[in-house]
Amino acid sequence: MNTHVNDPAALIEADRAHVWHHLVQHKPFETIDPQIIVEGKGMRVWDLNGKEHLDAVSGGVWTVNVGYGRTEIADAVRDQLVKMCYFAGAKGTIPGATFAERLIGKMPGLDRVYYANSGSEANEKAFKMVRQISAKHYGGKKSKILYRDRDYHGTTIACLSAGGQKERNVQYGPFAPGFIEVPHCLEYQSTDRGEGYAERAVKAIEDVILREGADEIGALCLEPITAGGGIIVPPKGYWEGVQELCKKYDILLHIDEVVCGLGRTGTWFGYQQFGVQPDIVTMAKGVASGYAAISCCVTTNRVFDMFKDDTDKLGYFRDISTFGGCTAGPTAALVNMEIIENEKLCENSTKMGERFQNNLLELMDKHKCIGEVRGMGLFQGAELVLDRETREPMDEKRVMGVVADCLQQGVIIGASNRSMPGFNNTLLFAPALIATESDVDEITAAVDAALTRVMA
Ligand code: PLP
Repeated sequence: MNTHVNDPAALIEADRAHVWHHLVQHKPFETIDPQIIVEGKGMRVWDLNGKEHLDAVSGGVWTVNVGYGRTEIADAVRDQLVKMCYFAGAKGTIPGATFAERLIGKMPGLDRVYYANSGSEANEKAFKMVRQISAKHYGGKKSKILYRDRDYHGTTIACLSAGGQKERNVQYGPFAPGFIEVPHCLEYQSTDRGEGYAERAVKAIEDVILREGADEIGALCLEPITAGGGIIVPPKGYWEGVQELCKKYDILLHIDEVVCGLGRTGTWFGYQQFGVQPDIVTMAKGVASGYAAISCCVTTNRVFDMFKDDTDKLGYFRDISTFGGCTAGPTAALVNMEIIENEKLCENSTKMGERFQNNLLELMDKHKCIGEVRGMGLFQGAELVLDRETREPMDEKRVMGVVADCLQQGVIIGASNRSMPGFNNTLLFAPALIATESDVDEITAAVDAALTRVMA
């Protein structure tokens, strides 16, 4: 392969001149060099200048759950690609069938796996299923889809229409109709989260259902733990209440596990922390830890069977993703799952997550700017505030100053969406599930030092 690998200056120029990077303002690249990550092993990555970084965000957006440099995944994918790289449409492949069976084995109560390539796409499949069920079985009723303020479900126009992070939507409208927002369980920056908080949050969803009419609502789509919206863990009793609402009003429960899926919170899926039984589950990032592009939309047979009707020529799910037929995805996913199982990475996520959360809680004694620590497993957030009592958010400049200071120290951390009113202030951590005690302690030490410097 002919690349600029031995000519760093040419590589940077190629990047600067031709790559349109995701989610970033490009003006600064006119004067500073884009950072290029060259190599990774375990929890660490190296940039073009040879600088080593401890990656506390699993590839930037919480994806590389099993860590870098897994030759067993690369070898399996290579062998499979040589044997049979791709076949799509109505035909199956060996890795496709095998992974579907293994995945369903981790998801009691669910039955069918629909393959796609990204989290957004998996969510689009789910939305289309709900719409087709509405058309086929409810005469066009039950077509509305509820989503929650603060949740994110992807980047396409339909997913943004179901997007609760408003700053992502600005300038991209008009949006698709029939997506209705429900409030979040977090009573914004409120210090009043006492008795009845979960019940109030569930009641707020029910109020929307009653306002819109239950017979108009087909599905409720939620993240198990709101991820990019600030790592918001729902209170005890919330999910039980949500499940009850869905049963009571015959609404499909669609859980977006794009972030929490595959061990991130300490169980295979985030919803399993709360004992709920969804009808549809979507997943992407951790499915193959970024070694191949794959996402899944998983449903119950109850949902699947609604598309089985050979008296209706148009009654089947008329959808395809060309690259849903790539075998690299399910092959990488199979080995990824075996690694999580063999190395007990769900258990490690729980154990290291507890240690890391305790570390962050201890930092609260020293740094009054930490308003709250939230998270589950190796998915943690530290909300930065100007005042712990009022929870007035820390300014973006200092939040990003902490991220930049950590980077300088060789530790890559993240922050929740920056231009979001009230929630531009949470430091985000999602290290690979292989993290050790010394890794989480090192991340904590970097944050400690950064807070000391930036808040001085
Ligand atoms: N759902 C959630 C909860 C996400 O966080 C994301 C992306 O970060 C998506 C969906 C969209 O996934 P993708 O970027 O793979 O389309």
